[in-house]
Amino acid sequence: MILGVVADDFTGATDAASMLVRNGMRTVQVIGVPQGPAPDADAVVVALKSRTVPAADAVRASLAALDWLRAGGARQFYFKYCSTFDSTPAGNIGPVADALMQRLGTDFTIACPAFPENGRSVFRGHLFVGDELLSESGMRTHPLTPMTDSNLVRVLQAQTPSKVGLVRYDVVAQGAEAIRARFDALRAEGARIAIVDATSDTDLLAIGAACDGMPLITAGSGVALGLPRNYRARGWLRQQGDAARLDPVGGGAAVLSGSCSVATNGQVARWLAGGRPGLRLDPRKLAAGRDLAAAALEWARARLAEGQAPLVYATAEHDEVSAVQRELGAARAGELVERCLARVAQGLVEAGVRRLVVAGGETSGAVVQALGVAQLRIGPTIAPGVPWTQAEGRPLWLALKSGNFGGPDFFADAFAMSGEAGAAAASSTARGAGR
Ligand code: ADP
Repeated sequence: MILGVVADDFTGATDAASMLVRNGMRTVQVIGVPQGPAPDADAVVVALKSRTVPAADAVRASLAALDWLRAGGARQFYFKYCSTFDSTPAGNIGPVADALMQRLGTDFTIACPAFPENGRSVFRGHLFVGDELLSESGMRTHPLTPMTDSNLVRVLQAQTPSKVGLVRYDVVAQGAEAIRARFDALRAEGARIAIVDATSDTDLLAIGAACDGMPLITAGSGVALGLPRNYRARGWLRQQGDAARLDPVGGGAAVLSGSCSVATNGQVARWLAGGRPGLRLDPRKLAAGRDLAAAALEWARARLAEGQAPLVYATAEHDEVSAVQRELGAARAGELVERCLARVAQGLVEAGVRRLVVAGGETSGAVVQALGVAQLRIGPTIAPGVPWTQAEGRPLWLALKSGNFGGPDFFADAFAMSGEAGAAAASSTARGAGR
């Protein structure tokens, strides 16, 4: 293992893993801190659920992940958080960064959520989401981590006793040497964490180069873009074009959707408008005790037998979701739907489904748990931040989509791509066998 990543949520972990795979690193994502030894991969990403838990719990979980990655031989470490710097004055970015630095015995790191490809840029310490300052974006009213200040030096300084500095764009634009010199100057001034400006992939590559040999990096997934080059230059990472290779799978395909985001509503509507089969789950009927999972499975098996990919969804528009939440309570409605979709997932896999798309972060968590999947090998990217993955050691591909990711045809795109990727993998296996 070259790089060990501690990610503060599930789909964020997949996002970071996808970035590494795209840049030639064989990457495995593990869900929680495993008991056994680390898997064979260039990078291992531990997906935690530590973004909004109390800071002390986040620190404990993050240190456990770090210790496990260290025991697995990782030579550099990366604390991955959201590209909108989701946190509160209580944490958890500052406290976790401090604890990881202390455990690694290092006195300096960076903090850079920039991900220009997805519209997140940092300029003079201020985070922009598209053309808006963070504090003017939708994040200002987030239910758990409202971001009302765009000045990341100030935001992070409120979370940590460590002195926070800034590497301005003017320096970043001069390249890796200048950035490193600024790190040294900040360190001499007593700073322990530096917010780093970045508005383009060129900036991310320069920052990545400047972080060569730094024990700990804290960032969104963007900074990971520049790291594989360092590992190649050091001779740690072989040139390889097949980091995204998954074992080819046959079998059926299906979609489960529990996300009610604007993007997912559009994707479900597009799927149905194309005349493809879909079955809607009604949370009220679930609350009344109806066994909708069994009925959905019977329906889905018939579609699979016809060679079609069935969609089972609870996805609904905002007004409908609010009405159901008022009647049933938000937590209960969510749990009923998640439990039902998780059971459908089990039944679908038993029925021979081998390519399963799941829409929704919490929904994905429920499905992955029900399927007993503890490790995912990361494959080709379907849309930014959403790769195909393979349940380690099993003939099962999963695409786990966080609510707002993916274009309108995401579901169909995923299956079109799984065909191509499967065929490419099959032919490269055949070529390998022929040699
Ligand atoms: P996202 O990634 O879009 O946030 P999640 O799966 O994380 O999606 O969260 C969506 C939540 O909404 C889940 O708990 C899901 O069970 C719940 N849910 C799905 N459909 C409905 C519905 N029709 N009414 C109420 N809650 C729903």
